[in-house]
Amino acid sequence: MRLSNAFLKTMKEVPKEAQVVSHQLMFRAGMIQKLASGIYNYLPMALRSLRKIEAIIREELEKKGCQEVLMPIVQPAELWRESGRWDYYGAELLRFKDRKDSDFCLGPTHEEVITDMVRKNLKSYKQLPWNLYQIQSKFRDEIRPRFGLMRGREFIMKDAYSFDESVEKSMENYQLMYEAYTDIFNRCGLKFKAVDAATGAIGGDKSHEFQVLAESGEDGILSCSHCDYAANEEKAAVKERQFKTDSSIFTPLEEVHTPNQKSIEEVTAFLGKKPEELIKSLVYMIDEEAVLILVPGNKEVNEAKIQAFFNANVVHLADDKTVEEITGAKTGFAGPVGLKKQIKIAADRGIQEFPNMICGANKTDYHLTGVNFERDYKVEEMGDFIHALPGEPCPVCDEGKLEEHRGIEVGQVFYLGTKYSESMSCNFLDRNGKQVPAVMGCYGIGVGRTLAAAIEQNHDEAGIVWPMAIAPYEVLVMPLQLKDEDVVNVGNTLYKWFMDLGIDVAIDDRNERAGFKFNDADLIGYPLQIIIGSKTLAEGMVEVKIRATGEKLKIKVAEIQDWVVNFKKEALK
Ligand code: ATP
Ligand code: MG
Repeated sequence: MRLSNAFLKTMKEVPKEAQVVSHQLMFRAGMIQKLASGIYNYLPMALRSLRKIEAIIREELEKKGCQEVLMPIVQPAELWRESGRWDYYGAELLRFKDRKDSDFCLGPTHEEVITDMVRKNLKSYKQLPWNLYQIQSKFRDEIRPRFGLMRGREFIMKDAYSFDESVEKSMENYQLMYEAYTDIFNRCGLKFKAVDAATGAIGGDKSHEFQVLAESGEDGILSCSHCDYAANEEKAAVKERQFKTDSSIFTPLEEVHTPNQKSIEEVTAFLGKKPEELIKSLVYMIDEEAVLILVPGNKEVNEAKIQAFFNANVVHLADDKTVEEITGAKTGFAGPVGLKKQIKIAADRGIQEFPNMICGANKTDYHLTGVNFERDYKVEEMGDFIHALPGEPCPVCDEGKLEEHRGIEVGQVFYLGTKYSESMSCNFLDRNGKQVPAVMGCYGIGVGRTLAAAIEQNHDEAGIVWPMAIAPYEVLVMPLQLKDEDVVNVGNTLYKWFMDLGIDVAIDDRNERAGFKFNDADLIGYPLQIIIGSKTLAEGMVEVKIRATGEKLKIKVAEIQDWVVNFKKEALK
């Protein structure tokens, strides 16, 4: 590519909305252009890098036996009704009607379409395993699109779906994908962690996220200081403890007047107690069912854990009217003792820590004191329903403590089981001649987000410092004095040599000041700059600047091809 003719405009300033470095640099390096909120044009520099990431993904997936397909972005509502997701996917699903008044949506993910596609071909276990993938645009009407390609509304994703005859075989596929993802992100030059993750609305019960470690990351990760336990903050487990109960110190249950004292801080201050001595009681709607969730007063409810525990599609707080119907009191005075309408009670294990707790009395402006588990109330479910916090003991080993990091989720692998194959009848004849649903997994990589994450990890004051494997161009040839015929000729010769050698090369043949060209070259981040100046050329040499280290070397023109080829080879190792 000749920069004199490039569809490229670099920028000094950045728009205010570009809060993270990758967004700022992609904008300044002329890689992306905003069309609407969360919707971008990919300009040539960005697309070259995206295509390289895609090529790495394709190579690594094909090694594991995956096969590429391409499904439509527009998806009929019937399939989503079959899986049950049409009703609860929420506002991220962009829905519309065609001229015949049929419902459609733009695909945020493709479980429904692929399950439909596979059920039309699948007959016998002999055909399996299958792992089908595509690289394609997704649309999610994100509530807060931001950070450029990191959280867009339209974005490029690689999504893959595996179909197996058994849970064991599906786990083998999961493991293969886990390995493929590790190789993909390593080849992209990223530092990342694979962490235990919550499965959310997609269902299933085993999942890992691949998190690129970066300050600007939207996700919290907790990892052990001693062993290799690492989990998304949503999923990170609280260590199980043994609680001793000594009923001899139980005090009687007492109702106390707590007028207008609703928040935990208000109530505990009013009664001269600590927040951990109060049972926080919240009525949640778990799918259609109201459940009273109890957690220690000093802890936050973790909705992702509730969703996983109950294997629910949606989890949200009940509205005030429902709370009043169930408790007989205004919101803020719920508790497990004496509910007006008996509903299921599920408690976090931590509520057993202290005797003689406080809780709402299910009567407006009243609380109960001296509340004791088992003596005064029972629970149907006991589990881990709170957020783990940094500094707490590791849930797995006995030595470590949890440490907090920020991460950018670039990929996720899920074991889905038969959630979709069962609801959509994607069955096959198994080894015993029985019709059974296929066991599925699904696996996503955000291609644009991976690009953004690579910039978050690889940049300096001057601009992007591309890992060789995903740089839009590997080499920039920079003839400085365009009036010097020798400089121009050698520039053109090197440009041609490198192209013939299969090196991704650009030439800065613009009639601009050297300083301007250097700034641009650093901003765009070509791994190698080959600078051709009259003086060095008179000695038969060119100068090479290595972007990553800032190192400058003089190399004989006759040796430059071998040198560059070697450098690239080393960089891609
Ligand atoms: P997030 O929690 O960040 O919203 P997700 O868990 O909903 O993402 P998945 O359904 O797991 O996303 O999608 C697979 C991959 O697609 C993610 O790991 C991420 O890299 C990418 N991705 C998801 N949403 C976006 C988005 N809005 N913009 C860019 N990439 C995205
Ligand atoms: Mg995810």
